[in-house]
Amino acid sequence: LFITFEGPDGAGKTTQLKLLAEALKASGYDCIVTREPGGTVISDRIRAIILDPEHQSMHAPTEVLLYAASRAQHVLEKINPALEQGKIVLCDRFVDASIAYQGYGLEIGEAQVRAINQFATQGLLPHKTFLLDISAEEGRRRLVERKQAEFKQGLDRIEQKDLAYHERVRQGFLQLAEQEARISLIDASQPVEVIHQQILREVRALLHV
Ligand code: C5P
Ligand code: MG
Repeated sequence: LFITFEGPDGAGKTTQLKLLAEALKASGYDCIVTREPGGTVISDRIRAIILDPEHQSMHAPTEVLLYAASRAQHVLEKINPALEQGKIVLCDRFVDASIAYQGYGLEIGEAQVRAINQFATQGLLPHKTFLLDISAEEGRRRLVERKQAEFKQGLDRIEQKDLAYHERVRQGFLQLAEQEARISLIDASQPVEVIHQQILREVRALLHV
């Protein structure tokens, strides 16, 4: 079972992913948690190139291909083998993020991003995707709050982009949620525990327990 978490920066994906992983492990399921861009040594090195705030001159096609390259390695080295071993794979972002961020945010278009990612993933798609939806303003507010509190560091190159970019990303995600039955849209302004219970109910239904 392959489950992904999507949504704008600051929506709470990582928090929910950890809560779900703990709940599944407590029920005896073998599950792994991973993230994009990243998840393998090579993918994490590509992540660093993509997110470096000094790389302001990175062109859109370069960015799309780097995300896809990071993902290809991640799928082949980590996700596919875990799925073959019957594990539950929980992943922070996947192809939908590229459609929203690069397809809609950078205005490259959904079709091209899909085609490139089809090649990168050999067609692998999640069985279930939780889209945590939050406004660009609220996402930004949470992000700044968290980064100051936890890391005392600045925002990455993508997070630094203006609110209009992040609003296009959000609209891209909402568009995808309308198109794809696999995507569950969740209001991420609700309390953490309320969201967790909703996700847990849906995952239990998928597992028939
Ligand atoms: O989820 P996380 O914050 O770790 O993602 C790292 C950065 O990469 C974020 O700023 C996110 O917006 C960006 N990103 C992106 N396109 C993707 C995946 C992530 O721009 N396909
Ligand atoms: Mg982020």
